[in-house]
Amino acid sequence: MTESAKPLTMDTIVSLCRRRGFVFPSSEIYGGIGSTYDYGHYGVLTKNNIRSLWFRAMVQERDDIVALDSAIILNPRVWEASGHVAGFTDPLVDCRTCKLRFRADQLELSSCGRKPSKRPGETPECDLTEPRQFNLMFETHVGALMDESSLAYLRPETAQGIFVNFKNVAQLARRKPPFGIAQVGKSFRNEITPGNFLFRLREFEQMEMEFFVPPAEADEWFGYWLDARRRWYLDLGLRAENLRVREHAAEERSHYSLATSDLEYLYPIGWQELEGVANRGDYDLTQHTRESGTKLEWIDPDGTRYTPYVIEPAVSIDRIMLAFLCDAYDEEVVGDRERVVLRLHPRVAPVKAAILPLVPRDEGMASRARALYEELRLHHAVEHDDSGQIGRRYRRQDEIGTPWAFTVDEQTLEDETVTVRDRDSLAQERLPIGGVRQWLDDTLQQDWSSPQSR
Ligand code: ATP
Repeated sequence: MTESAKPLTMDTIVSLCRRRGFVFPSSEIYGGIGSTYDYGHYGVLTKNNIRSLWFRAMVQERDDIVALDSAIILNPRVWEASGHVAGFTDPLVDCRTCKLRFRADQLELSSCGRKPSKRPGETPECDLTEPRQFNLMFETHVGALMDESSLAYLRPETAQGIFVNFKNVAQLARRKPPFGIAQVGKSFRNEITPGNFLFRLREFEQMEMEFFVPPAEADEWFGYWLDARRRWYLDLGLRAENLRVREHAAEERSHYSLATSDLEYLYPIGWQELEGVANRGDYDLTQHTRESGTKLEWIDPDGTRYTPYVIEPAVSIDRIMLAFLCDAYDEEVVGDRERVVLRLHPRVAPVKAAILPLVPRDEGMASRARALYEELRLHHAVEHDDSGQIGRRYRRQDEIGTPWAFTVDEQTLEDETVTVRDRDSLAQERLPIGGVRQWLDDTLQQDWSSPQSR
């Protein structure tokens, strides 16, 4: 069935996203702004699905995690206490010849400014400086004055908003460790390695959960979350051969981390971090206790006090979306025609079903298709399409990953049944039009795995 043997390139995904309105370069009519993208209709629908699937797994289906939505601009002392002002840096090198700037630890992912087929430093003309540290936080000013006293930062991670609220939540949430606080929201980093589409953005939507545990249980919970997060991706159809766990060596870990493992995905640019799971120990709560003077600790009913350790699964919706798109992309020849198809998990797909009148000018087909669409759209993201040949309409839906199409045809007028076309197998069956809603509800609940899996 699946015949695409050529390796997938990032350009293929970029061009599909643009062609079908998932993602556009930001402020494009002004020439864009590096590593920043805007999401179009299908991109927004897909992001909404990823966000709500994450929230469902992390908060709704559990009784030990609560939600939080903290501000993007926090008191700048938060970032001094957390270590970000001093240490949230990447090592940079400049090329004196082409005047471009590169991340010293990622030269293999960058291209020389003069000879893009070479890496920086590979040509005799390249003249790289020694690495120096560059802080990734975006600065801004709060209030009317533009001086040191008004300096503030756009948050580079959502986690600190959780730590500084630990006392508020612990007092009000009626939970005791182990318990977690989950937050989804924009984070900002002045990233230096440009390119690679949604993988490395300057503005991205992070989903982080800080799980506070008694220190003696930290190792066990670290293993638990690593496994739970891996399972989440596999359950959403990510192919197992494209997902792996990589443990960080001690020298690679962040200053706060006692242990870190990445869930890596095989993107077109190679194996790269999709999600990080870290044991942050008591670093953050201890730092904020010290710097704010507010004790961020847990007191058991028997009076025992301790600073919980924190296990953190952290990811961005953008990197997840890129992984799902790459994993789902397929090209195949059906009959004598080529089709591009996104084999997305139905729960991730932006549109769940298309409702198509076979002959749009036939009043009976048109009115039944419209009525079915109006019924289904109350419950699911569905589309009605009555323009162009039926084959073209199917292919349009294949490219955005719509798992099913319901076609109203001549037979519908006789027996009130419609055709259901399956995106992956192309199998067609007939259903009573009155049972479509229930069929869609039920089928969306079923397990799904990629037909491209080995
Ligand atoms: P990298 O090593 O790739 O720069 P990181 O280790 O700095 O990533 P973390 O600080 O652990 O990343 O951030 C947690 C998660 O947030 C990452 O696993 C990734 O999913 C996401 N993320 C981080 N930076 C970006 C970015 N610039 N664009 C998109 N997503 C990002």
